[in-house]
Amino acid sequence: MAQDSKASGFRTRAVHAGHGLDPVTGAHAVPIYATSTFGYGSAERGARLFAGEESGYFYSRLSNPTVRAFEEKVASLEGADDAVAFASGMGAASAIALTFLKAGDEVAFMGPLYGGTEGLLRDILGRFGVTVHDVADLDSLRATVNERTRLVWLETPTNPTLRVVDLQAAAEIAHAVGALVVVDNTFSTPYLTRPLDLGADLAMHSATKYLSGHGDVVAGLVAAREDLIMELRLHGLRHVGAVLGPFEAYLLLRGVKTLPLRMDAHCAGALALAQAVQGHAGVQAVHYPGLTDHPGHDLAARQMKAFGGLVSLDLGSQEAAFRFLNALNLFTQAVSLGDVESLSSHPASTTHQLLGEETLARQGITPGLVRLSVGIEDPQDLIDDVLQALAVAGSGANTGHSTPVGSAG
Ligand SMILES: *Cc1c(COP(=O)(O)O)cnc(C)c1O
Repeated sequence: MAQDSKASGFRTRAVHAGHGLDPVTGAHAVPIYATSTFGYGSAERGARLFAGEESGYFYSRLSNPTVRAFEEKVASLEGADDAVAFASGMGAASAIALTFLKAGDEVAFMGPLYGGTEGLLRDILGRFGVTVHDVADLDSLRATVNERTRLVWLETPTNPTLRVVDLQAAAEIAHAVGALVVVDNTFSTPYLTRPLDLGADLAMHSATKYLSGHGDVVAGLVAAREDLIMELRLHGLRHVGAVLGPFEAYLLLRGVKTLPLRMDAHCAGALALAQAVQGHAGVQAVHYPGLTDHPGHDLAARQMKAFGGLVSLDLGSQEAAFRFLNALNLFTQAVSLGDVESLSSHPASTTHQLLGEETLARQGITPGLVRLSVGIEDPQDLIDDVLQALAVAGSGANTGHSTPVGSAG
């Protein structure tokens, strides 16, 4: 029997919520329902399904049993009434925008947001008569929102400088003008932060990252109140179409079961790594909310169960950053994050390149900044690898392409 009562602990819900034994076969694992359509059984039932008088599956663009189990599991973890899955995080973000916005509306976001989300808000919504404001902090959010503000879009900690945003305070400001608050909870996951408990209306995910955890699927999800999820499913999913497939949902169901165990390992490894490099001569700044001198530390300590798996280091110059990245052995140079394997990236020349020099400088995305997604390997091995790479970066020698170690390359 599914254990999705909110009274159960997080780990219990991660394992059990959203599914029980398959009602037809007793299968213990959720079957992959590889079907596009579902027979009505009778013309009368077909009519009732379409009229919304009876609930049931009838077409996999709207709902599929394997996908449904994933939705219900994450809804339980987010403490939400319901959730709807999408083909990608950006599929979830665009569904939110197309469901809840119309010409004349305004959106306020506290940048930097994920690059794709900023692209959606700035480049696409602007063409449809939506005015978008990038606000620097809570004071400018308060000064910007007005009765036309429909959405306030937040992310915490932010990518890649790991600024922490006060969700409760931002939600109060947004709700004072009747705006909906969207929180991209990809970096924190519901294990560390539950935005809906702090007043947000919609918690969205790139499930590609920690929810999956294994780097083998691209997916998205939104968790929220029942009426908001109904609107998203009917408009943002049915009429836009970024639907998650049952095979991906099956992988995600496997992944989410170990989310709390993986997050504990990611957070412990990231904290140990951040502490180990703090004060190192080759490191100008360590951005990690778990360090007591991080500007968002106190807020993070209140708002997050632990401080997350991302650490960014400023090595002073692009040359040092490149030498460092090329010398790492256990961190694969790649975009994405939240995999069990450690990953590394240079935001200024890759994911954030399009922002332009002025915005990069304003957001602290310096040429020397490297972002590390700390995997679940032994923390001491990761620390040793980072220290040897810092030695290479400091020596001025570029080792070129790194040699993969074991299966982590
Ligand atoms: C990756 C990411 C996205 C986009 O998700 P996709 O699954 O790649 O479409 C959105 N927000 C954040 C914070 C991300 O890291």
